[in-house]
Amino acid sequence: MTTQAIDPQYRIEQKRRINGAFPGPCSQELAARRAKSVAAGVASGVPVYVADADGAIVTDVDGNSFIDLGSGIAVTSVGASNAAVAAAVREQVGHFTHTCFMVAPYEGYIEVAELLAELTPGDHEKRSVLFNSGAEAVENAVKIARMATGRPAVVAFDHAYHGRTNLTMALTAKAMPYKSSPAGTFGPFAPEVYRAPMSYPFREENENINGKEAAERAILAIEKQIGSESVAALLIEPIQGEGGFIVPADGFLPRLAEWAQEKGIVFIADEVQSGFCRTGDWFAANHEGVVPDLITMAKGIAGGMPLSAVTGRAELMDAVHPGGLGGTYGGNPVACAAAVAAIGIMKDLDLNARAQHIGSVAMTRLHAVAADLGDKSIIGEVRGRGAMLAIELVMPGGKAPNASATKAISEYCLKEGVIILTCGTYGNVVRLLPPLVIGDDVLEDGLNVLEAAIRSQC
Ligand SMILES: *Cc1c(COP(=O)(O)O)cnc(C)c1O
Repeated sequence: MTTQAIDPQYRIEQKRRINGAFPGPCSQELAARRAKSVAAGVASGVPVYVADADGAIVTDVDGNSFIDLGSGIAVTSVGASNAAVAAAVREQVGHFTHTCFMVAPYEGYIEVAELLAELTPGDHEKRSVLFNSGAEAVENAVKIARMATGRPAVVAFDHAYHGRTNLTMALTAKAMPYKSSPAGTFGPFAPEVYRAPMSYPFREENENINGKEAAERAILAIEKQIGSESVAALLIEPIQGEGGFIVPADGFLPRLAEWAQEKGIVFIADEVQSGFCRTGDWFAANHEGVVPDLITMAKGIAGGMPLSAVTGRAELMDAVHPGGLGGTYGGNPVACAAAVAAIGIMKDLDLNARAQHIGSVAMTRLHAVAADLGDKSIIGEVRGRGAMLAIELVMPGGKAPNASATKAISEYCLKEGVIILTCGTYGNVVRLLPPLVIGDDVLEDGLNVLEAAIRSQC
């Protein structure tokens, strides 16, 4: 598959091009204005300001072109200005931008709900409700689970990331930067949130523990510390995102889902990052045949427009009284139009197959680099599924997290014109989330730079 086979109509040439040192003068000027007007608490990964973006390329205000291997955190899977998404948005804004679905409803919302019923795991009767952000979807999934079960407790896992609102901060595992800093805290946090041990194969103390055993370990902790009869929901990312692209051992998710069902606990899959073709399937839960009771979605759903959703079993979803769920902007008509177009593109271009292809190209390359580096390798593990891939970086010869090399690698890549993201509880994971419409030549070029960056640290 070449760039042309994916989309012949990119407006921007799919090539990286850096004109000397950056940030250039126009980005510097914007940085100065920003310093006087934008809150310091919101930080940016790159020092340049965006002028345009299309396919797998982001251009800045000084004329530099970068290869985007982050998709604005797994959002622009169909590209940042996909022609079909842009046309759908234009068409919708020409009619109405907002009425509020709770005031005067419209077809786009229903269309999205129908698509979600079709695409999410399981062939049971489903209902959906739409919101704006991933955190809002998670908050509402918890509200629904509590109302449906009449129970208070919610169990999240080590290394989890679920958002930045009060409840989702509590659900998120990592303190700095999400919950607190050495200077203070965003707390107090929401009550009745408990944490269970995750399956993190690379960092298990007992290397031989399998997925089912790791699930039993979590179940035991929940039974002993909370009691299953108090638990409304188990909330888990089938592949953890911010926590380090942690893929639990085979059997972990199915056993947890089975136990939740036995105990009347709502199993919520947070697929905000892993959903919509990212992992080479519509949802990451599918890789192990797990059918969640509720599923939260956002990021890749609408080609960059803000939209999120909770889809789930009709009897759980409809346990909430009319008026109990909603929000002014949730399921905005422009965002719904974008989602319908973006999902159409995912189907038409078979972006699940494309994600698998990207995964196999990148995995093969990174495994070869690790093998070639041998004893001096800082690659602890290459993992992930489809186009949700990560490299966990360690000190040579062991497993001690290597956060400084991780930072150096992302800086090296940026300097060469490749945007990559990092993550992980220990800040030692490079993650790859390229747009799924990236051409093979662009991907190859990006991987060349990443390989050179890794080698520069060995
Ligand atoms: C990004 C993310 C969220 C939060 O989404 P926002 O849109 O930033 O609120 C929740 N869960 C997971 C798994 C995420 O990756």
